[in-house]
Amino acid sequence: MVSAELAPLAKTGGLADAVAGLSAALAAKDHDVRVLIPDYTAPPSGRPGAAAIEGGASVSPAESTPVPVYLIASPAIGSGGAIYLGDERDAARFWAFSRAAVAAAAALGLTPDIVHCHDWHAALVPALAASRPPLASAGTVLTLHNIGFQGAFPRSVLPDDAAAFLASLDDEATGSRDWVNFLETGIRRASAVTTVSPTYAREIATPELGMGLDAVLRARGDDFVGILNGVDYRLWSPESDPFITPRFRRGDADGKRRVKRAVMTELGLADDAPLIGAVSRLFEQKGLDLLVDALPTLLERTRARFAVLGSGNPDLEAALSRAAKTWPERIAFRRGYDEGLAHRIIAGSDFLVVPSRYEPCGLTQLYALRYGTVPIVRKTGGLADTVTHYDPASGRGTGCVFEHADVTGLIWGVTTALEWYESPADWERLCRNAEGLDFSWQRQCEPYEALYRRVIERRRHRSPSA
Ligand code: ADP
Repeated sequence: MVSAELAPLAKTGGLADAVAGLSAALAAKDHDVRVLIPDYTAPPSGRPGAAAIEGGASVSPAESTPVPVYLIASPAIGSGGAIYLGDERDAARFWAFSRAAVAAAAALGLTPDIVHCHDWHAALVPALAASRPPLASAGTVLTLHNIGFQGAFPRSVLPDDAAAFLASLDDEATGSRDWVNFLETGIRRASAVTTVSPTYAREIATPELGMGLDAVLRARGDDFVGILNGVDYRLWSPESDPFITPRFRRGDADGKRRVKRAVMTELGLADDAPLIGAVSRLFEQKGLDLLVDALPTLLERTRARFAVLGSGNPDLEAALSRAAKTWPERIAFRRGYDEGLAHRIIAGSDFLVVPSRYEPCGLTQLYALRYGTVPIVRKTGGLADTVTHYDPASGRGTGCVFEHADVTGLIWGVTTALEWYESPADWERLCRNAEGLDFSWQRQCEPYEALYRRVIERRRHRSPSA
């Protein structure tokens, strides 16, 4: 696995959880999995005991991780802890990481059957590996966790060696004359390409949601597939969650109520009303601006309280802070990144709202389900694949699914869900349905195993002498 993020060592979002969960599940099935990630905190002189690789880079094993992890340090990646700088400097940083990761794999004597690369940060690895024995004989898989992040840069910002390498690839694969696109290069070069839900796979193969890469994806035909992310239930279930007190058994409404009370006290809210949580990066994609705009109506029409944790867009952060100041008894907003509070909000809330404009898979709704926290989600991508709209007549369904990414759609979703809350029989049924689902990585890693096998078989077929 080659990734910019890996929970818990380096995490900003779902990528970190997905790579960690998939790796651990594969390892538990006796696959020999190694994960290579950048060393964002290495001192400029390198870590003591690190093995030098070319270009001033070095590699050192991380300590006490469930799956072996190699930290790739390089002066070009920089240190200080930032995972992304969010500007053109990231081109040189992740180029350096990808190059060093390939060199490190060779130096470590790794001879994988499959090199599985994640997102644009590692998307040049298939091309780099192709010219680098012993990696050259490995199949490559590229997983797109979010096609909104492509690593598209003007050629002029690339270091010379990166510019030369990309120019040496066939011209189609290297973007336009003036621009390069790391993700596009990977999509063209990997043996197979995946994304993190079947619906998102269909969506990004269209011009509406493909963000310019739909044609390249369609050209991959059957070699582009959607495989749903899984959940590591050791971290995300009421029985074993390391961040909640008390832990409780699935279906134990009293236990859940105690966690709800605790988190509401922590946030300064009274616990005599339904609680709607949101844990999210605060960017346009996630649609939390819709929640801000819907709040006046929702506060007037319902008795719900809101607990929001997130950071991102400063305007959105400010709007949420203002809302919390205006209605302190109804809304709590915590700005920042807080793993523990994320668990407590997801575990303790009655609902979790995920109003995304697009959503490759979405993990928080999967986590919520396990705690009997009913997801209110927009019908898009992985949200549409993992939550089914509750139907009081049949008693089937696991959450509330609204169609339109606008304020009206969200208000409809929240008020509909709250009606179920007020009907004890429906509520009981809905919570049990939600808790009963199984999105464990043990299951969700099987389609990856099948894909790996297909890629390996095909390569054997093509080069019978290898
Ligand atoms: P994305 O990867 O697009 O951010 P996902 O739903 O796939 O969205 O994954 C989000 C992950 O990041 C979840 O594990 C969620 O709990 C976590 N997360 C998001 N925002 C925060 C935050 N402010 N504090 C702690 N965890 C957060």
